[in-house]
Amino acid sequence: MALDQLTSQQAIELEDKHGAHNYHPLPVVLSKGEGVHVWDVEGKKYYDFLSAYSAVNQGHCHPKIVDAMVNQAKTLTLTSRAFHNDMLGKYEKFATELFGFDKILPMNTGAEAVETALKLCRKWAYEVKGLSENQAKIVVCENNFHGRTTTIISFSNDAVARTNFGPFTNGFIKIEYNNLKALEEVLESDSNIAGFLVEPIQGEAGVYVPTEGYLAAAKALCAKHNVLFIADEVQTGIARTGRLLATCGNCSCADKNCSGSPETKPDILILGKAISGGAYPVSAVLANNSIMNVIKPGNHGSTFGGNPVAAAVAMAALEVVQDEKLAENAERLGEIFRAELAEFAKTTDLVLSVRGKGLLNAVLINDTEDSSTAWDICMNLRDNGLLAKPTHGNIIRFAPPLVMTEEQLMDCIAIIKKTISEFKK
Ligand SMILES: *Cc1c(COP(=O)(O)O)cnc(C)c1O
Repeated sequence: MALDQLTSQQAIELEDKHGAHNYHPLPVVLSKGEGVHVWDVEGKKYYDFLSAYSAVNQGHCHPKIVDAMVNQAKTLTLTSRAFHNDMLGKYEKFATELFGFDKILPMNTGAEAVETALKLCRKWAYEVKGLSENQAKIVVCENNFHGRTTTIISFSNDAVARTNFGPFTNGFIKIEYNNLKALEEVLESDSNIAGFLVEPIQGEAGVYVPTEGYLAAAKALCAKHNVLFIADEVQTGIARTGRLLATCGNCSCADKNCSGSPETKPDILILGKAISGGAYPVSAVLANNSIMNVIKPGNHGSTFGGNPVAAAVAMAALEVVQDEKLAENAERLGEIFRAELAEFAKTTDLVLSVRGKGLLNAVLINDTEDSSTAWDICMNLRDNGLLAKPTHGNIIRFAPPLVMTEEQLMDCIAIIKKTISEFKK
């Protein structure tokens, strides 16, 4: 097989033979991306409606982000944290001012940032809150998705993600998502609780948007019990849901100095994915000094965390979000998307409903969770030039890059309507 010019089929066969089978991708092989579009190796053009699980909010190969990456890569790539570098401090000042926290701890992947937040929360619980050694517990939600490390899957209830990976890490209590009573009960019945880790919208679970006021009330309950309110905004953050952060509540993120809404602002904020615009693995944990200062040299680290390329890329990616008003665009286009699809749902038996916030939306397909209907619809969408993927059986997530125009969105809505209308089981 000539490896310089592969067909899609050949590329898929290579992965199948030589790569671990830890994913089940839609059969499409991409070789180029620009803005809201990607192209396969045969040159067919698609709208990307996954955005690499919301990592590519700024659009594929954004020139400002790519330039920042290339320029920094030519100058200095990695020093490790054994030495200082001249990019990290600049990035830390920029990011902490933008998100309104005293300090940031840079990591690489979302899972690492979640791990960092859990460690930070536990250390705070022993050294500030005063819990006895090894007693700290962290409350999490059912159907959460926070990543793939051994500790994180310890509190997942996805059997596929957990089976035969034990033994697991102790110290987590699972409660129902969007259930304040359950949170209140657990906080009142157990004095060893250090933190509450929550996704502002459960993305992987199928884009579950909690009841209005849930996050603010959850934060207030945490505050009452001296428990840290920890928001995993790896997927919901960076303008995806129509605000710079989903925990911004109703504040206006057109405001450059926005530091979030005090009612929902987390004690610990976890970011990843689009903080780099999908150009580079960058993640971060943000908190104020009263929490972050429990971390001392040697307590935690990462060879690549906070490297000069990551710092340059993340600064450029966050500037793009501001310069191009991506939060405002996501909010406006999201409203159009849901209104159009809700109207369309009335005309077909295949669509039950549409839900979401900003440009993080899901369409519920009218079939059982183990049916292949959503997958088959995604295959037809692919054939019609739009890439999306089912999450949890019968739910299709629609999350395009936030640089989409209204005209492009209307084009995409037409493709979705046509595909579903013509779909036959
Ligand atoms: C994707 C995701 C993660 C994990 O990020 P990785 O970079 O894949 O490790 C964690 N939390 C949420 C909410 C996510 O969507």
